[in-house]
Amino acid sequence: METKYQTAYCDTLDAFLSAIEVHVLENKADSFYSERFAKHLWCPECKKVMLSLVHSTNGMSYFRGYPKQEHEENCPYKLPEIRVKTIAELNQEDPSYERTRLQMQRVLRYTVTNRTTHKKKVSISTLPKEQIVSNKTIHKKINARLPEKRIDLPLSDNDWNVIKIFYGTVLVITTPGKQNPNDRFLKLQSLDSKNHICLIRVSEAVWHYISKEPLLSDKWIKVHISFCGKLKKSPTGTVFCTLQHSQLLMVQPA
Ligand SMILES: [Zn+2]
Repeated sequence: METKYQTAYCDTLDAFLSAIEVHVLENKADSFYSERFAKHLWCPECKKVMLSLVHSTNGMSYFRGYPKQEHEENCPYKLPEIRVKTIAELNQEDPSYERTRLQMQRVLRYTVTNRTTHKKKVSISTLPKEQIVSNKTIHKKINARLPEKRIDLPLSDNDWNVIKIFYGTVLVITTPGKQNPNDRFLKLQSLDSKNHICLIRVSEAVWHYISKEPLLSDKWIKVHISFCGKLKKSPTGTVFCTLQHSQLLMVQPA
């Protein structure tokens, strides 16, 4: 299966761009796009493989690598995506979620598109400072990776019922659960407030362990978010994800 990249590194901007951002740029002006972007999109991690924007038939955009170009030896995109059937299996393989958390940290960096901030050390609210690792450590410790999906892009059929690492920049608000007010729901909305994206259900037991600072506001706040889980659709059509563990959510104020 070909690797579908959700984010590309753009060397003319020195920034990470999502497929939708590049799609918008592509539609703006032909020469501007071809000069600044067309041959300037790269693997977000090793920056050795050139990427092109693909529009698939169902209206989804993603990046694809040029054939015959090689990733750097330790690039995580060199590795095939693993598909883990249940959270129990995932937990069995890696009880500390360390590998998953490293990947979540890595993709979270891609959401900080500002060219000066993405180079700064990112402070992530849900992790104590000493747990934030350097790029080098990330490379060293990743020996497989989960599928990734930008949550700020439209969802496609293969995003349902599969454990993925979802990430992106969104608006979020926290509300109490209806049945148990000690449970919480994080409502995610697109930055322009036009689209409801999904609900992340956090049970009371998990909520207890999450560092809540950016999530205690009673207003919509802009955040960079990364979480690991399965998206499902309720019978009424609501998209939700149940967070199984406090380590599987990272939120950083944007
Ligand atoms: Zn690479």
